[in-house]
Amino acid sequence: MAANKSLLILPGDGIGPEVMVQVRRVIDWFDRRRAVTFEVEEDLVGGAAYDAHGVPLTDETLATAMASDAVLFGAVGGPQYDDAPRAMRPEVGLLRLRKELDLFANLRPAIAFDALLDASTLKEEVIRGLDLLIVRESTGGVYFGEPRGIETLPDGHRRGFDTQTYTDEEIRRVAAAAFDLARQRRGHLTSVEKANVMESGVLWREVVTELHKESYSDVTLEHMYADNCAMQLVRQPTRFDVIVTDNLFGDILSDCAAMLTGSLGMLPSATLGAADATGRRRALYEPVHGSAPDIAGKDMANPIACLLSFAMLLRYSFGLEDDAALVEGAVRHVLKTGVRTADIMGPGAARVSTTVMGDAILRELDKQAA
Ligand code: NAD
Repeated sequence: MAANKSLLILPGDGIGPEVMVQVRRVIDWFDRRRAVTFEVEEDLVGGAAYDAHGVPLTDETLATAMASDAVLFGAVGGPQYDDAPRAMRPEVGLLRLRKELDLFANLRPAIAFDALLDASTLKEEVIRGLDLLIVRESTGGVYFGEPRGIETLPDGHRRGFDTQTYTDEEIRRVAAAAFDLARQRRGHLTSVEKANVMESGVLWREVVTELHKESYSDVTLEHMYADNCAMQLVRQPTRFDVIVTDNLFGDILSDCAAMLTGSLGMLPSATLGAADATGRRRALYEPVHGSAPDIAGKDMANPIACLLSFAMLLRYSFGLEDDAALVEGAVRHVLKTGVRTADIMGPGAARVSTTVMGDAILRELDKQAA
């Protein structure tokens, strides 16, 4: 019997709690049917925490997150918080969690499900079989570099400036995480920068090359300029396995890769920190989508992005590959049968609610585990 895994669940606002209910049902199913069991705590974050405690994340919730094996997050935000003081905005809860847990590697998979190939704007033959993972450095680079600002020049014109900066250590730790992931997948890593025009890109390439030689020569490494990567992502995305890149390029390329597959309601993500001496990494898992106030409370949201985030949690925090594959397989199968929430409706499919999608996935889990 596997040891209990401690999980902190933060459903948040809008559709966050609705999709999380379906994940809780799957967690209960795991407790009943599989070797792994979970010790789950649930708490408030974002607008819900602001309403209850006057802050988007309490110190107590943060302490629980620090002590948990993994955090599963729903979504935060909503128009009712638009006038909240800046430091109390719902997204501050998420930003604080990411910062305090020192989560620096953001993982965004892009997987094309056969049943949804027609949801992509690209031709089916281009995306069939797509299964790539973008690892984006998420705590450094130009979004945080100093100096930055807008200044007035002596001639009266104004100048805006930002600083792209990376230390070798920042590059090394995200590259190591990406090499480890490539090793668990198909053994291919594409490292993306602009070493042709940026000094930080030159260092990025040097450090990744050194690390490859030292510790990861079993993984195939290629270097690619970011502009070429953007082209290849829409030209031949199936050529990629794992892509590692900086914060700015990762922001853009991961959104581009996400849209290869269609709906926001299908996209999971993870953000990982450094591994400690026992190999345990702090980690937060969350769907890419937001709180979708336009459909909140209507039992319409697609719970699959959140369920696939839970599958990532099983794989990356606990090494439970078979269990992760079980959840992903159940999703794949349900989609094949034509069961769809509104956001992924297609011709001839059956439109169902969040709850009925959850029912269908649980039934499929029962079948697969029988
Ligand atoms: P959104 O992702 O919430 O919604 C965009 C569109 O996609 C909406 O039409 C929505 O109905 C649809 N959609 C999103 N998730 C869906 C799902 N699971 N099933 C079906 N349809 C889905 O983005 P937005 O509208 O720009 O932002 C709404 C709120 O969410 C804002 O307050 C924003 O700040 C917040 N937000 C939070 C996060 C987060 O918590 N990580 C991320 C993005 C936006």
